[in-house]
Amino acid sequence: MTNLSASRELDALVAEKVFRLEVCRCEQPSSCGFGPQQCAFGCGGWIPLAHSTSIAAAWLVVEKLSDKWEMNLRTILPARDYVCEFKLVVKNKCIVDAQHPFEHVWNNPVDTAPLAICLAALKAVGDKVPAHD
Ligand SMILES: [Zn+2]
Repeated sequence: MTNLSASRELDALVAEKVFRLEVCRCEQPSSCGFGPQQCAFGCGGWIPLAHSTSIAAAWLVVEKLSDKWEMNLRTILPARDYVCEFKLVVKNKCIVDAQHPFEHVWNNPVDTAPLAICLAALKAVGDKVPAHD
């Protein structure tokens, strides 16, 4: 997962895992442009937004998770990399402790903020975090 780069493939993964959308799997979904809208070829799937390349679309990921996850985004010098961290909070009480080692996630440093947000968000909703949903 840490090897994922900003791409339409990653956008689709975020749409599936974070937004719980059935994503278009047609041969040439790029001809549909960017979402959110349903595929024009009748597969019933959704065209993902550009979550991994657009900060506006990445911010929707932050907002989607903000019911339970606090987000910190920071730059790392000297390379000006980005690290995004999500911390699981329940009823105003952070539940990060030794018994919940996976409820505090972050990405390895990457070139852009949207990519950092997407990678950390996928960790947050991953199957190592049973408390989400
Ligand atoms: Zn389709």
